[in-house]
Amino acid sequence: APAVEVTGLHVRLGGAAILHGVDLSVHTGEWVAVIGPNGAGKSTLLRAVGGLLPYTGSVRLLGTPSDRLRRRDRARVVATVMQSPVVPAGMAVLEYVLLGRTPYISPLGRESGADLDAAHAVLDQLDLAGFAGRPLATLSGGERQRVFLARALAQGATLLLLDEPTSALDIGHQQEVLELVDHLRRERQLTVIATMHDLSIAGEYADRLVLLADGRVVASGVPREVLTEELLARHYRARVRVIDGEN
Ligand code: ADP
Ligand code: MG
Ligand code: MG
Repeated sequence: APAVEVTGLHVRLGGAAILHGVDLSVHTGEWVAVIGPNGAGKSTLLRAVGGLLPYTGSVRLLGTPSDRLRRRDRARVVATVMQSPVVPAGMAVLEYVLLGRTPYISPLGRESGADLDAAHAVLDQLDLAGFAGRPLATLSGGERQRVFLARALAQGATLLLLDEPTSALDIGHQQEVLELVDHLRRERQLTVIATMHDLSIAGEYADRLVLLADGRVVASGVPREVLTEELLARHYRARVRVIDGEN
């Protein structure tokens, strides 16, 4: 089965129809970038796939209907990193990464040695061990984004959903974070769906691009099939290379 199989996905938010029958199939180990103009529904699609908002239609994760997954099982399957996650005031990096273990932590709220080991292993792997005791708020943008990834990886999920993972970063740190994602997905056989604002970077890193416009998939394929003048002119108001800063 594909890692993700979405069929006929409809989402309504605040009384408005946002997604109008989206189909999307993603293989294990594949990196799909969801692109499209602001307001197209990219974040909404990601949240629906992650089980974070109600939808109609079908979302299957590793062959199982998403709405049949219990919290703990879902946590093993899918981890979502939203854009600019809220960072609890004063929270240290290790504590934050341990939040990724929450579905496994006992009802007493105590993490086990295994949870701590998992968190430390991920911090080591992401070159964050030296930051474990630091308040997350004191880290740079690139370091913080690595911590957000660390939290998602600590969950042990095989499917990673990333909402504009580099939108807050300068170009050097964008590449650092995307290289890290690429390395991790190869090493751990992760499947990645990322909404990506910068089209040239999306085309460089993703195996496949899905172009969303007005809540519908209007193109899908390898980057050179989707990043055509015609498609971009039709679906983007602003010129492609212009970064509009919003979002
Ligand atoms: P994108 O990520 O592609 O910029 P979003 O998925 O964030 O787009 O939003 C798609 C559309 O849904 C936008 O028009 C947005 O205003 C609308 N929208 C998002 N969240 C809500 C909400 N909670 N209530 C009503 N409309 C929403
Ligand atoms: Mg937006
Ligand atoms: Mg968005």
